[in-house]
Amino acid sequence: MLRADLLQLYGRLHRHGMMIGSSGNVSARAGAGMLITPTGCDIDSLAADHMVEMSLAGAAIGLRRPSSEWEMHAAIYREHPDAQVIVHTHSDHATALACLGRPLPAFHYNVLTFGGPDIRCAPYVTFGTPELAALASAAMAGRRGCLLANHGMIVHGRDVADALTSALLLEAMCKQYLLALAAGGPRLLNETEIAQAIARFGTYGKQPENLS
Ligand SMILES: [Zn+2]
Repeated sequence: MLRADLLQLYGRLHRHGMMIGSSGNVSARAGAGMLITPTGCDIDSLAADHMVEMSLAGAAIGLRRPSSEWEMHAAIYREHPDAQVIVHTHSDHATALACLGRPLPAFHYNVLTFGGPDIRCAPYVTFGTPELAALASAAMAGRRGCLLANHGMIVHGRDVADALTSALLLEAMCKQYLLALAAGGPRLLNETEIAQAIARFGTYGKQPENLS
């Protein structure tokens, strides 16, 4: 069931234009380990039983090789107990902002739903490395997503639907922020406005589908 859910999530991300070719990958916590899309996966031939089962230390079960970014997923599951599903994409607007090496500031109150007053941008290091895994997981401290400099973005959620929503929301907010930057630069929420928005949400980090 989890394998089929991951396949559906991967397909939905493609249909939303969030992934091009085999860039991007998804995973789900499974027992003490995880299930993750295979390396170089092709959306047209990918099947549920192609998902690679592996431990969070990197031991894969089966013949297929996991995504080259498996270490980034494993580090997040190890260090973020609330992470159940992870989406990593090179979606256009998140990647464009990440290429500026900038965090996403509190230009809109929905930024706060990711857990704090900004969505951080992890420094650039080579893809597929343990260094990237550590930097991405650290940039997500207290957050459910981050940008990856000169690379893309990564988010986690409590289930498949939540992770999809977070990925789409982060991409939309990066687009809105870039538009505002191009139009002269947005006014950012001040500390009082941030505190008032958090109080309005009721709970810091409440999920976006419950927000107006
Ligand atoms: Zn990537």
